Amino acid sequence: MKFTPYWLDTAPQGPDRSRTDIGGHVDVAIIGAGLTGLSTALHLARKGADVQVFEKETVGWGASGRNGGMATGGLGIGFRDAIARYGFETAKSYIATYHAAIDTIERLVNEEGIDCDFARTGKMLLASKPAHLDGLRKTHEIMSDRLGYETRIVSKSDLHSEIGSDAYHGAMIDTQSAGLHVGKFVKGLADAAARLGVTIHEKAPVEQIRRLSGTKHELVTPRGTVQADQVLVATSGYTSRPFRWHQVRVAPVGSFIITTEPLGKDVCDLLLPNRRMSSNTMNLLNYFRITPDHRLLFGGRARFAGSNQQSDAKSGRILHKTMTEVFPQLSNARVDYCWGGLVDMSMDRMVHAGEHDGLFYSLGYSGHGVQMATHMGRQMAEYMSGDLSANPWRDLPFRRIPGHFGPPWFLPFAGGFYKFKDLIK
Ligand SMILES: Cc1cc2nc3c(=O)[nH]c(=O)nc-3n(C[C@H](O)[C@H](O)[C@H](O)COP(=O)(O)OP(=O)(O)OC[C@H]3O[C@@H](n4cnc5c(N)ncnc54)[C@H](O)[C@@H]3O)c2cc1C
Repeated sequence: MKFTPYWLDTAPQGPDRSRTDIGGHVDVAIIGAGLTGLSTALHLARKGADVQVFEKETVGWGASGRNGGMATGGLGIGFRDAIARYGFETAKSYIATYHAAIDTIERLVNEEGIDCDFARTGKMLLASKPAHLDGLRKTHEIMSDRLGYETRIVSKSDLHSEIGSDAYHGAMIDTQSAGLHVGKFVKGLADAAARLGVTIHEKAPVEQIRRLSGTKHELVTPRGTVQADQVLVATSGYTSRPFRWHQVRVAPVGSFIITTEPLGKDVCDLLLPNRRMSSNTMNLLNYFRITPDHRLLFGGRARFAGSNQQSDAKSGRILHKTMTEVFPQLSNARVDYCWGGLVDMSMDRMVHAGEHDGLFYSLGYSGHGVQMATHMGRQMAEYMSGDLSANPWRDLPFRRIPGHFGPPWFLPFAGGFYKFKDLIK
């Protein structure tokens, strides 16, 4: 078994970007070479800006190369919760932004010719308890009748047309969501940005940042120092010390994934015949899908813990047990990959973007960033060029997480809270 993300292991290796020269002046410096950073760089370069990206590790090393590869239309909170919190019209505009974000990926894939198995196979939300199906029915009514999105309910008796499992009590299907090979996508974005003149510096951690005036900053890396007219913090769950204001506003929550050996098309046709991006309705949810080479990818927040090889292995064992409960037919299937990554949870589970003390940022995707991080790259390019209305999340206050000073000591307590909620609801 490899303790490395399947997506990065099966994507083409990019050029070595760890020996670039760092120094001088640049229009825009971007910190983090994930989907947020690379998409912003690409869209700014299209406008003619001189852009450099600084990445502590390598392209896609963060959450962008470690996720489930699901570009779905859901917010980080349920749609009915969003209506209760923000009112119908605002919630409607937020969900429209998520759908527009899937379109952004599709457009980039076509415009830049990125070969990444993008396919709108839809999303399936599976009721873990009988009562959860009632909630899905209510969501479906709002989504289809009041918003006009194509959703439908599948009852338990019809569920075998969608999944080879008896573990669930029905499902809601949305047909617009998509799956993609995120390793190929993030590397394709990097190549597309580089073609437009963006320099990507790998192995270039930004260790210090000094504000010179307004939005101008000096960035210090072990490989050199650079001055930039504008800086974007695009570090998601990997945000650390030099960006303390941002760091204490996102909780880095571990999420873990295993993938099986290739199972062949026929077996996959029995597991998920329509290749939906699937998840269940628990707070500590599981998500799963078929990869382009016919493996089952199965993930979840198996434990509220950080991510390192030992933690990933422990979570992988829990995921394997759950996977074989959902799909007993896979009890003898080999697990080829096991990895973990950090999700950037904000207090309100909503995205936060804007400018603070002269630094631009887009963070807090709360587990729904494949589409939104890519889309926010496009929006931040407009925002940083002066169109403040381009930031869809401008009205949301970005609150500090109480008690969060750096190391996320509170994660096990948060985990206990969500386990309890799953037990009682
Ligand atoms: C296991 C897992 C499963 C997920 N599944 C899904 C899914 O199926 N669908 C979905 O929509 N979302 C999913 N997500 C969330 C999604 O992957 C993220 O929201 C998204 O990738 C965030 O992209 P980003 O570019 O903002 O951050 P990242 O991709 O995390 O990139 C941040 C980068 O910043 C770098 N960095 C940090 N500090 C510095 C510094 N000081 N100097 C230089 N570089 C620095 C890091 O090395 C990192 O590469 C998942 C996340 C995880 C972890």
